[in-house]
Amino acid sequence: MQKRRTRKKRVSRPKICRFCEMNVEYIDFIDAETLRKFQTEKGKILPRRVTGTCLRHQKMLSVAIKRARIISLVL
Ligand SMILES: [Zn+2]
Repeated sequence: MQKRRTRKKRVSRPKICRFCEMNVEYIDFIDAETLRKFQTEKGKILPRRVTGTCLRHQKMLSVAIKRARIISLVL
């Protein structure tokens, strides 16, 4: 039996912020569909190193998600 020594290979994805790409100036918390893409199944906000979102947009995103949580749009 061989011991598997697979290092976690991450699929190389372009580290470009999706919001910058789309020239998003403001992330609307009403847009739950977009917000969910940046959350885990349990409703946690995905870290920047996973999504590649820039700092500016990550902050906006977290605010948007927190607002959306209040009105229970997202987990
Ligand atoms: Zn950005």
